[in-house]
Amino acid sequence: MTEESVQQSKSRSRVDRLRLLLSKAGADFLLVFHLPNIQYLSGFSGSAGLLLVEPSRVTLFTDSRYTFQAIEEVADSGVTVTIAKGGLLRAAGESLKKRRRRIRVAYASPHVTVAQKRALDAAAGNSVRWVDALGLVERLRAIKDGSELALMASAAGLISEVFHFVLPRIAPGITELSLAAEIEYAMKQRGASGPSFESIVASGPRSAWAHARPSSKAIGKNELVVLDQGAILHGYCSDMTRTVFVGRAPDKVRRMYEAVLEAQEAAKSAIRPGASAAAVDRAARQVLKRHSLARFFTHSTGHGLGIEVHEMPRLGRGDRTVLEEGMVVTVEPGVYIEGVGGIRIEDDVVVTAAGAVNLTKAAREFLEL
Ligand code: ZN
Ligand code: ZN
Repeated sequence: MTEESVQQSKSRSRVDRLRLLLSKAGADFLLVFHLPNIQYLSGFSGSAGLLLVEPSRVTLFTDSRYTFQAIEEVADSGVTVTIAKGGLLRAAGESLKKRRRRIRVAYASPHVTVAQKRALDAAAGNSVRWVDALGLVERLRAIKDGSELALMASAAGLISEVFHFVLPRIAPGITELSLAAEIEYAMKQRGASGPSFESIVASGPRSAWAHARPSSKAIGKNELVVLDQGAILHGYCSDMTRTVFVGRAPDKVRRMYEAVLEAQEAAKSAIRPGASAAAVDRAARQVLKRHSLARFFTHSTGHGLGIEVHEMPRLGRGDRTVLEEGMVVTVEPGVYIEGVGGIRIEDDVVVTAAGAVNLTKAAREFLEL
């Protein structure tokens, strides 16, 4: 097959599988609002678009800023581009109105505002019966195909390299913001289109803030530093956390680190096709419990990763999702103790028949700088 026909059959099979889910949801059409879903189905990466999936064709509605980009990006996917003159919602609504019979159109309410829905209703009139269907495209996106896995391995490799580049720059006196800037500069130098989320650099007492924004605080001696960073490469995200100590760490900190690493390894070992997301989370939590640290682990063990940095599945308490081969998830237990600091270790792994395989490769051993 030529590269073009490979791309075409890839998008086709995504749309074909989507149509199957769509009919199970009791609809014939799907109007896709969420841009990452549109990108997954059509290849279009612009910031304004609506995708209408019908039984026999797929149409991308976008505006005149994207005329050339849209045609180029969807060229191999078999999607038709319509440049909407009077707004995307009106164009999509009017297209739905033209049908001879009343049609059932699915949409995902979390991605649609009340105002958007009103504009659609005004344009489509009562030719449409709306079906609220959640997560149809997201369910497909959770399982990566071979080409996606290759892209994700490169994004993860890139961020691992960035960490090793930044490591020698972590020293007393440099601010968190300055380190975050180094991280983001280094990823773009290596071909990333940008960070997959605002890079986290949190030092000293601020490392206990699980989701700290980098600040103008300078790194001090004898401090923990949590660095959580991710890059987007060819449309796919990576997400990796490492925690280092500036100076010689007290035994208490060293023991905390070893416990978090052990929890991460236990969670990775629990990953296999057929395992529940909750079981993976439980594996990490049980290790921390043994070290009397469970109450300091205040978030989920991980999350799916792909076109977006947070996708299905969530690896959290009580989550019944069953892991399948081809899913990519983060494994990121952490402990956060007020006054002491925080420690988190996060890797991206792919679920394979043989268990979890690491995509991020940066050193995991305790580093004292
Ligand atoms: Zn992260
Ligand atoms: Zn994460």
